[in-house]
Order: sequence, then C-alpha cells, then structure tokens
Amino acid sequence: MTGRRFRFVQWTLRPDTEADAPRTAHRFRCVTLDDRDDECGACSAACADPGEAQGWAFGHWRAHPDHTDFAETVERPWVMWMDGPA
Ligand SMILES: [Zn+2]
Repeated sequence: MTGRRFRFVQWTLRPDTEADAPRTAHRFRCVTLDDRDDECGACSAACADPGEAQGWAFGHWRAHPDHTDFAETVERPWVMWMDGPA
C-alpha cells in the first residue's frame, strides 16, 4: 500500500515588497464627460512615481482646460506567502 502524506499549511496574502517584485504603478485617466456623456478616457503611462502620473494630469489639463476630472489607479503587487502550519 502506498501512502500519501499531506501537510496543511497556512497561506497569507501580503503586499510583495521583495527586491524583485513588480513596482507599484500609478496611472491617471481623464474622466471628464463630453456633451454626449462620453468619458474622455485619455490616460497616463503607468508610472512608478505618483508625481509623474500627476504631472501628466496637469499636462492634459493645460492642453484641455475644460478637462478637470481625473481618476487614479494604483496597482500594487501582492504575493501568496506560506506562513507555517495551519
Ligand atoms: Zn481629457
């Protein structure tokens, strides 16, 4: 008879702060609505520096002074972590 041995472990989900983890990314999108209630949708690049993403919003606003509404998306890496016996 062959036996299988199982070991139950506790897993947790935590922000990935390892050196090789993807960097947190900040992105701004213009959500200003036009006359037909369509969103502008112009979007910055994904920036590691939140100030750089905010700078894009200022640039977009200078080019389109009536576009004053933005949304920020922050993408933070998380990782499943084996945390010991259950
Ligand atoms: Zn816009």
